[in-house]
Amino acid sequence: MLFDPRPKDKREDLFDREEEINMIKKYAERYPATLLLGIRRIGKSSILKVALNEIENGIYIDVRKLHFESGGWITIPSLHSNFEKALNSLKPPIKRKVFESLKKINGVSFAGINIRFEKEARISDILESLDDIGGVVIGLDEAQYLRFFGRRGGKEFLSLISYAYDNLKNINFIFTGSEIGLLHDFLGIMDYDSPLYGRVYGEITIEPFKPALSKKFLAAGFKEGDVKVKDAEIDRAIGFLSGIPGWLVEFGYNYLTTRDFDKAMNGVIQKAEKFIEGEIGELEKRSKRYILILRAISMDFNRWEKIKEFVEGNDRKIPNSRLASLIRKLEKMSWIKSIEGRYGIIDPVVERILKEK
Ligand code: ADP
Ligand code: MG
Repeated sequence: MLFDPRPKDKREDLFDREEEINMIKKYAERYPATLLLGIRRIGKSSILKVALNEIENGIYIDVRKLHFESGGWITIPSLHSNFEKALNSLKPPIKRKVFESLKKINGVSFAGINIRFEKEARISDILESLDDIGGVVIGLDEAQYLRFFGRRGGKEFLSLISYAYDNLKNINFIFTGSEIGLLHDFLGIMDYDSPLYGRVYGEITIEPFKPALSKKFLAAGFKEGDVKVKDAEIDRAIGFLSGIPGWLVEFGYNYLTTRDFDKAMNGVIQKAEKFIEGEIGELEKRSKRYILILRAISMDFNRWEKIKEFVEGNDRKIPNSRLASLIRKLEKMSWIKSIEGRYGIIDPVVERILKEK
């Protein structure tokens, strides 16, 4: 169903995005590593899952979930259990081949039709065996969270990836990231000290739908749900939500259940408020000035001096270097971007809510 609010994993539930899916499949063959970038709710997880499902040796790991499950630090056992689960969900012909190849590895056992990795199983041994039988494509969703693996900001994981990159020609990685700057920083392809420094990789950026496509998407979803919606309401919805599929789905899903424009829109706003509260709560633990900066920008105090004035007017003096580092962090987390010296909130729904706060 097009308006199902969960990430999609089948092509027929995903609207458009044919080109992006095909590109991922092509890049997964061509490059040892591919980055799939785009803001939250743009459809990265869905596009990745559909592509991996269509590749017989594709496996999916949700790194953000891994991070939450293991209480803020990604541990080896949690990595093992997620890797295990991903391999167990492969389909029969390849699954048999994969299991056969892993039999001989220390720490790998079998329970019925499922594989288990014990503590002593080494991921590098497992990847080597997988490489021998033709390889796998490993999708690591929201991979910037891998910086919480181990004690050195994820360096051990990067070493593993760079080992695979250089030696295991049939292992390909796809990394997604909503926090685009953080993902780039983590992988460190431009960073001389990173194990991945200088490696060639593919990069695909997922863009919002253009207005005409948003309209077609809503129309298709309502047709599927067998509900008639006035053209004017569809136009109003798009005016507010722009072309971010996650918000459009939220609206469409709410409309299907309430059959009422205002209720559906309120549902979206509530969802967005909850998201902002949650994420900003996390930011505020580090500095309450983050929210002041975001509010300043949402109210069009969007140049450096104006932001500074607003923050100082609502709090106390802030040194330039401190303000610069907070702004840089918000850019890296893809909350804001700057164009010719003016900052803007990237997600228009988030912008509206901040403005009205
Ligand atoms: P991301 O991983 O970029 O945050 P998701 O893949 O989780 O985005 O998508 C956010 C929401 O939008 C989900 O409910 C998903 O089902 C929906 N969605 C995204 N892209 C599409 C699309 N092309 N067609 C239908 N639904 C989509
Ligand atoms: Mg996602």
